[in-house]
Amino acid sequence: MSAITLKNIVKEYGDGYAAVNDVSLDIADGEFVILVGPSGCGKSTLLRMIVGLEDITDGELRIDDELVNDKAPRDRDLAMVFQNYALYPHLTVYENIAFPLRLTKGAFSHEEIDRRVRSASTILELDEHLDRKPANLSGGQRQRVAMGRAIVREARAFLFDEPLSNLDAKLRGQMRTEIARIQRTLGTTTVYVTHDQTEALTLGDRVAVLRKGVLQQVASPRALYEQP
Ligand code: ADP
Ligand code: ADP
Repeated sequence: MSAITLKNIVKEYGDGYAAVNDVSLDIADGEFVILVGPSGCGKSTLLRMIVGLEDITDGELRIDDELVNDKAPRDRDLAMVFQNYALYPHLTVYENIAFPLRLTKGAFSHEEIDRRVRSASTILELDEHLDRKPANLSGGQRQRVAMGRAIVREARAFLFDEPLSNLDAKLRGQMRTEIARIQRTLGTTTVYVTHDQTEALTLGDRVAVLRKGVLQQVASPRALYEQP
């Protein structure tokens, strides 16, 4: 069964220009799909439609075979990791990771929050830093706290919007390996947007290439790399 299905998805903005034009893609359960293409090709728009932050002009979006075009973001069970994550400086690592669960008033018991935060910190190797404040963390640790906030949702899928583009080259390389490891460990379906060729060719199971709103090809990283 597909985890996420895009069928003839179109996004037109006010002026009638199709930022996303007739995109169809089947994402399997547990699959890691990279959405790559130059700036302005429609990657963010597509991701924002999947998460529900942008209306779909035409086409069908399904999660686990259920049509979700008109579902509110909070009811889609997806966890988004943004490019500009902001950690709360006055909160500890633990509280920063727990934050998304505390927002959902009354939904999670104290014990459940604790279980999820500890499980995420083990995967992220943050166990020993739970009482620290963001200012006392390295850049890589901060990025991992931001991922912790997505992991604690235990959502149906992760959606990444260029999460590494603000990091320096060394940290970017490090986090690339981290993200691949974490995704494999959790086995969570992932859609990852980037304009970075290295990320596109090393991270995912499949790469979807978008150009001017149109899906040009979908292939394994290996097939793309070897293509003339
Ligand atoms: P990418 O993420 O690949 O850089 P975007 O999805 O941000 O591309 O943008 C795709 C196209 O849609 C661009 O031409 C952009 O100018 C246009 N666009 C994005 N957001 C809006 C908006 N709110 N109103 C009008 N046009 C937009
Ligand atoms: P708002 O301030 O717009 O109400 P909240 O941060 O309070 O937004 O979140 C409302 C709901 O939106 C949350 O219960 C959650 O389900 C969803 N949500 C918020 N942030 C994310 C995210 N990063 N990824 C996925 N869903 C989110």
